[in-house]
Order: sequence, then C-alpha cells, then structure tokens
Amino acid sequence: MTNFPKSLFVASLMIGGMSMANAQEKTKPEQTEVYTPVPPVVVTKEVTVSAPSDAIILFDGKDLSKWVMTDDRNKPASWTVAKNVFTVNKKGGGNIETKESFGNYQLHLEWQVPANIQGKGQGRGNSGLFLASIGKGDDGYELQILDSYQNDTYTNGQASSIYKQLVPLANPTRKPGDWQAYDIIWTAPTFNADNTVKTPARVTVLFNGVLVQNNAELKGPTQYVGDPAYRKVHGPSPIKLQAHGDSSLPLSFRNIWIRNL
Ligand code: MG
Repeated sequence: MTNFPKSLFVASLMIGGMSMANAQEKTKPEQTEVYTPVPPVVVTKEVTVSAPSDAIILFDGKDLSKWVMTDDRNKPASWTVAKNVFTVNKKGGGNIETKESFGNYQLHLEWQVPANIQGKGQGRGNSGLFLASIGKGDDGYELQILDSYQNDTYTNGQASSIYKQLVPLANPTRKPGDWQAYDIIWTAPTFNADNTVKTPARVTVLFNGVLVQNNAELKGPTQYVGDPAYRKVHGPSPIKLQAHGDSSLPLSFRNIWIRNL
C-alpha cells in the first residue's frame, strides 16, 4: 500500500464505486412498472372457440382432473367447480397447474371477473396464466389476468401484458361479468448445453379476438422485483393459473383446451 500512488488509489475506488452502482439490483417493485403510453381501448363482443378434434381438453366443465396444486403436485386441484365453470379458491392452498407438461402450443382459455368486483389497480380481479410453470408459487412466464375495464394500473401489468415485461398492443377488456377469451401461441425457450439461452420464448396473444402480443420475445420468466432474465433451464412445463393474494372476489374459468405444436 505504501508504494501505491494516492491518485491511482482514489481513481480505483471511484471506478469500484461506479461499477457497484451500475450492478446494483433493483430492489423495489415500482422500479419495473411502466405507465405510458396507455394501450387504446377496443370494444369487442364475446368470443368463444370450440375445441378442435386434435385438442387436449384441459377443462370440460365437469371436473379438474387434469389439474393439481402447484406447491404440492400430489394434491388434486382444490378450486371450486360448479355450473360448467371453475372458480379460484383463494383459501385453498394457492395456484393450480396442469398434470401434463407442454412445449410449444396453441391454447384457448376463457375467464370471467365477477360482475360485482370491488377494489382497484392490481387488487381488482387479479389472476394469471403462467404459460410455463417452472417452479412453485408464481415461478414462470405470466400472461396477466386482471379486470382492466376502466381500471388503471401500470400498463405492463394490465390484462394480457406479459407481467412487468410486455405491454399489450390494445385493451379489449370487456366489463366485469362478461366472459373474456385468450387465444395464445407459445414458443418455449430453448437452452444451450452450457445453460445459456439458445432461443428466447415468444408469444402471440389474441384477447377477445384482438391481437395484443405479436410474436413478442420474452426476456425471461416474470419477475416481480428487478429485471427478468433466463436464469433457469427448463423443458416442457405445466400451465399454471394464479390464486392471487388480493382481497377482491375470485375469478372463474371455462373452455380451456390446448394443441401441441
Ligand atoms: Mg396476476
């Protein structure tokens, strides 16, 4: 240390400080929220698509036999089935996911926010469709489900966003009580032998028949705090539905089917 020129020592400290600042992780959820521009509202009618002959039916209106609890895949899905739909069970142990795993696929799913929904922002009819579930809890790539009918929130967190990552091209959300439809084409990511990403995930989404994600590239799985990145190698994965922890009334689902591509 004695022979180390003082000016160089100060310079190295400064560089050290700068690089530390650059590498500093985002520590607050607000740092990855985007508010403008706001996607234009588009008015749509109800969309439904019957399952084609080669589809795997993930919910036929009768039971959740194709689904298990995410946090304990030995347990059957505990959500409530009635009148040809099923409803999130917020006290029932959390998210559910398919027994089967999928790579690239086409998926149709319909969801409904209760007509008497209360709350605002992310606390109003929040659920989510994880296009690939890669672990417990909310691990995976979340296509947001939310009441985005006259309900402002960050645009990369509104319905049909890839949560905290891809803002939808439009807002065709219908009013609470109406059924909403997602039609999705998912291209799973691939990985090199050294665990780096070879080809990133891509997604196309039609929301009530309106294009909202156009072969969009994902930066990695959804991350609530900080920037997304591909940190975990995975192959074909289950599809997951979110039991969000907000206190608003639970959503319902119907007519879910998938075609392997
Ligand atoms: Mg959600």
